[in-house]
Amino acid sequence: MLHRLSYVSRAAIDRCSADFMDIARVSLQRNKAEGLTGALYYDDEQFFQVLEGDAAAVRATFARIRRDPRHHSIAVVSEGPADARLFEGWAMKFLDGAWVRDGRRLFAPEALSSVPPGELSRRIATLAAP
Ligand code: FAD
Repeated sequence: MLHRLSYVSRAAIDRCSADFMDIARVSLQRNKAEGLTGALYYDDEQFFQVLEGDAAAVRATFARIRRDPRHHSIAVVSEGPADARLFEGWAMKFLDGAWVRDGRRLFAPEALSSVPPGELSRRIATLAAP
């Protein structure tokens, strides 16, 4: 059963740091191996991530991500079964906030409460479209 989870968190690392490259490298490698797809929006203040795939793999990956000190104030935005992948072909699509118009406002934790569950994942999929 396909499962999708999205969350928002506050970044504890800098855009140009080696940490960011490390997250990108490890995410691509491990998500590919576990059949996960998704997207990671990032700016200097926050992350917004969507993970989709087998439910057990999504949960195990998110459990590791939750323990990671490179971000904090992690809050699940939506979680549940999904009909189809929004990010087919993307082990992780990285979206740099510097290039996403209104990204910081769109993914700000205080803005998320007014957005219907699943809507943010659809929005980020639109941004991620090639
Ligand atoms: P190990 O590499 O063995 O590390 C052990 C512990 O140290 C873990 O808690 C790890 O989080 C932490 N750690 C690792 N490197 C550092 C460092 N440089 N500084 C401080 N602490 C560190 N992983 C995925 O597999 N898929 C994803 O999609 C994914 N997305 C992520 C998104 C964000 C915003 C962040 C912050 C991390 C993400 N990660 C992702 C990385 C994930 O948190 C784990 O670091 C990674 O999966 C390796 O897990 P591990 O248990 O093998 O950790």
